[in-house]
Amino acid sequence: MKPNNQTTWPMQIIGHVSSPYKEKFSIPRQANLVKLAKGYIEFLPDFSDIDMLEGIEAYSHLWLVFIFHQTAAQGWKAKVRPQRLGGNKKMGVLATRSTFRPNPVGLSSVTFDKVEKLPNGKLRLHIQGLDLVDGTPIIDIKPYIPYADVIQQASSQFATDAPISKLKVVFAEDLAGKLKICELQYTGFKQFVCQVLAQDPRPVYKQGKEDNKTYGVKLVNWDVQFNIAGDNCLVCAINDLS
Ligand code: SAM
Repeated sequence: MKPNNQTTWPMQIIGHVSSPYKEKFSIPRQANLVKLAKGYIEFLPDFSDIDMLEGIEAYSHLWLVFIFHQTAAQGWKAKVRPQRLGGNKKMGVLATRSTFRPNPVGLSSVTFDKVEKLPNGKLRLHIQGLDLVDGTPIIDIKPYIPYADVIQQASSQFATDAPISKLKVVFAEDLAGKLKICELQYTGFKQFVCQVLAQDPRPVYKQGKEDNKTYGVKLVNWDVQFNIAGDNCLVCAINDLS
């Protein structure tokens, strides 16, 4: 084989993600942990030919290949401390799904929803269960093929099971009217917030300890404020994002 001395390969962004997660805080550590996370990929004009997606409805799930654009500038490290392991244990970056990689490329399997072509020519691919922040650049999409991608005997000695939803989430009674408005703009919003907060988005070192802080997380069009005491999470305010 003739060696190929090329050490970089130019790539193009084909589109960007519109995500209900407006910031990294509270995004689950993997796709499909929050099923009600609904978003879409809007393709750039050069990649808005609907022919490109012909046949995609045949698949229930898709792989997204994307750029960790919000952490890429921080570079990478050979060893990282995965939050999933409590943030204390160091592991080789390529043995983790850390965002701080030699190439800031991520891979998520998401649920296919539908293809939409807008009257203005924009092409959107709607997806669910995403773990990506709003604006994430997409470099490729591939079908999820069960016979090849589901490996029944696959094992891992780390992160063996999906993280358990730890918290019981309730909403302050005076939020009933606001929740109805939110529901009109994002069907399933209340349940979506429950799924996000049940996983306890706080840093690992805060979890399981007394915590008087009121946290805020930007989801869809709102800043959702909450307090956590023990295993209970109270959503105390939902404010419009300006
Ligand atoms: N499923 C992907 C993978 O395995 O490559 C992502 C896993 S990574 C551990 C998931 C985390 O990436 C999320 O919790 C979120 O904080 C972060 N994230 C999501 N989108 C990002 C982006 N565009 N830039 C940087 N970090 C991002």
